[in-house]
Amino acid sequence: METSLRVIVRARPMNAREMKEGAARCVEYFDATGQIVINGASTFAYDKVYPDTVDQETIYTQSAHPMLDHVFGGFNATILAYGQTGSGKTYTMGTEDSDGTDELRRGIIPRLVDNLFKRIDDSTVPEAYKVTVSMYEIYGDHIYDLLRPDKVKLTVHGDEKSCKIVNLTSVPVSDLKGALKQLEIGCHYRTKASTAMNAMSSRSHAVFTILLEKAAVPSDESSFAAKLQLVDLAGSERLKKTEAAGHVMREGISINGGLLILSQVITALVTKQSYVPYRTSALTRVLQDSLGGNSYTIFLACISPADTNAQETLSTLRYADRAK
Ligand code: ADP
Ligand code: MG
Repeated sequence: METSLRVIVRARPMNAREMKEGAARCVEYFDATGQIVINGASTFAYDKVYPDTVDQETIYTQSAHPMLDHVFGGFNATILAYGQTGSGKTYTMGTEDSDGTDELRRGIIPRLVDNLFKRIDDSTVPEAYKVTVSMYEIYGDHIYDLLRPDKVKLTVHGDEKSCKIVNLTSVPVSDLKGALKQLEIGCHYRTKASTAMNAMSSRSHAVFTILLEKAAVPSDESSFAAKLQLVDLAGSERLKKTEAAGHVMREGISINGGLLILSQVITALVTKQSYVPYRTSALTRVLQDSLGGNSYTIFLACISPADTNAQETLSTLRYADRAK
């Protein structure tokens, strides 16, 4: 049986700073077995590992694209990008303040949207489909609408079964261009606030949601609504001592708390525990109907290959290891 959670690791190329520091590579990849060895000592195995030579197109085609089959089958799907700040989460997801037209750089979100509309256009009943997008940010256990300039704070209502973000801006879109416009707006409001609020974007989770609805029409009476959630998680690094004071400290703890609860939720799902602590954090509450149950999830761990980042990479590999 196909499992509904896949764990993938992607390394980015060494960056200029790592090269200048004379950093050496500390990870080895074994494509055939999905193994990664770090520091020549610890070995981990995942569903797939991608060395730094692998491009955006390949990552998309092999990992994200198959999720469209599930969404068009009426199932919810989620892709979560995890890793320390600078490891390539935003680049991989495509949660960037750009128009997504650079073919080589284009991340997962623009590619998914593009193929989603192609699939609708190629279907026998394109008129039966409706696509709606939203984008929000979770920071310090609060939810902020990213499609509104005032970034209004939102509340979640719901029960054990599902949760809904009240008054979240949802924009109907009819083509790639329309969807990318909203992504651009959301990314813009996210980064705009980050300069003002002390690198908020690295401490917040950004979620881009695509809702696909199909209505029953005479020639095809099936109907469904499926949600695709694309999550650019907060940086997983531990707070530096200098940062761990007062206000920032509280925010930091809260965000690391979100990632902690996420790992508890994933562990509970993977080990099939009867109680899954979804409701303990805003992040897991909003993902409740898209993690576990009848939904499909990809956990995408992003790492740096440099030995100067070995400690954080090891902790990312351990976190991802718990998700299997
Ligand atoms: P994060 O969101 O995890 O903090 P970013 O996605 O912003 O990290 O990546 C940090 C920098 O590295 C960016 O300048 C980005 O363009 C670059 N980068 C990340 N991954 C890759 C990659 N696979 N290939 C080329 N450049 C990358
Ligand atoms: Mg980022």
